[in-house]
Amino acid sequence: MQKIIDSIQNHYINLEYNFGAHDYNPLPVVLKKGEGVFLWDVNDKKYYDFLSSYSAVNQGHCHPKIIDELISQSKKLTLTSRAFHNDKLGDYMKFATNLFGYDRLLPMNTGAEAVETAIKISRKWGHTIKGIDENNAQIIVCHNNFHGRTTTIISFSSHSGSKDFFGPHTPGFIHIPYNDINSLNNTLISNKNIVGFLVEPIQGEAGVNVPEDGYLSKAKKICSENNVLFIADEIQTGLGRTGKLLATDYEDARPDILILGKALSGGTIPVSAVLSDSPIMDVIQPGQHGSTFGGNPLASAVAKQALKVLTDDNLIENSRKLGEYFRNEINNYIKSSNIVKLVRGKGLLNAIVINDNSESQTAWNICLRLRDNGLLAKPTHGNIIRFSPPLVITYNQIKDCLSIIKKTLKEFEL
Ligand SMILES: *Cc1c(COP(=O)(O)O)cnc(C)c1O
Repeated sequence: MQKIIDSIQNHYINLEYNFGAHDYNPLPVVLKKGEGVFLWDVNDKKYYDFLSSYSAVNQGHCHPKIIDELISQSKKLTLTSRAFHNDKLGDYMKFATNLFGYDRLLPMNTGAEAVETAIKISRKWGHTIKGIDENNAQIIVCHNNFHGRTTTIISFSSHSGSKDFFGPHTPGFIHIPYNDINSLNNTLISNKNIVGFLVEPIQGEAGVNVPEDGYLSKAKKICSENNVLFIADEIQTGLGRTGKLLATDYEDARPDILILGKALSGGTIPVSAVLSDSPIMDVIQPGQHGSTFGGNPLASAVAKQALKVLTDDNLIENSRKLGEYFRNEINNYIKSSNIVKLVRGKGLLNAIVINDNSESQTAWNICLRLRDNGLLAKPTHGNIIRFSPPLVITYNQIKDCLSIIKKTLKEFEL
């Protein structure tokens, strides 16, 4: 089924393969340009981007306002370190805390660093405010979570490839099933050393697992009742991706600690952040946490602009409306399909589940044919394909994409 890749793309693929670590298995396509929802390969073939770099380019590739900010700020000042103040960081902090409704923001770079930061804050809060004996703090996490790749974070992964042989693993994490309020409740009641519940509002990497309505608000409520921090990893679900500013906005489930990353820079440079109120955030005092690049003036200027674009360009509402349209159309297709079992998601974070065993190559083969037909998507966890285009996509473009997807799926119908 796989079309032989031409010699130009093969050249670049071999360079990566021969000189790089083999830590990824990319779809065979070599890109050189992006604009809005489109990507171009080295032969000038044009594609719809249906991954958005794992939701890091919600604002579309090379958004002019974000790129203008990136260029103009990088000509003035890029890095001061936090040894000194700069004239961009405070302005960004004020803007972001106001937008999300928190007292304070702690700036980091990658998503994993922000998750690590949230873990440190909640442990210290547990030991100094909640009164748990030092080194006894426990954090509840969910099966099939994805929170990043650091040594501590993979310690509480349930994916063997991510964690096996990377031990000794960091202790202090308790696993419960996702979307299971009783498990959360029982664990909170039986263990008095719990400081936080770390959860993805929708599990993106695990295959866009959407919990039941009310799960997040109930989880938040019982966390509050047990004096446990409700920590939401919105690195993938936040910033308009699911049709609201935050996925937790669908319910009465305001996180005590909010973790953001990915689209916080519109896909230009690594920018992440942790937001919380003073009684929690102030457990961190000078010298107790930090990052050389965190809060740099370039990142601060770009992040503020990337957040503004979400509202200025009406991307959040667009994501909600077009996401609904997309799922309706795919659901209509599924009625007469043998190859697609179901579609699920919120806003423009969606996935289809392929009707085949999870070891088969069907999802991968479908993605290769989607590529040939001008649309780039990637399988996640077995036979699931995530569809998450940039939120700047228009109605006519998504219609066009739906016909590419249906045409491709038809080739695989039994
Ligand atoms: C991508 C992602 C991370 C990790 O972010 P990096 O920038 O790759 O370190 C953490 N949590 C979630 C939910 C993610 O989607």
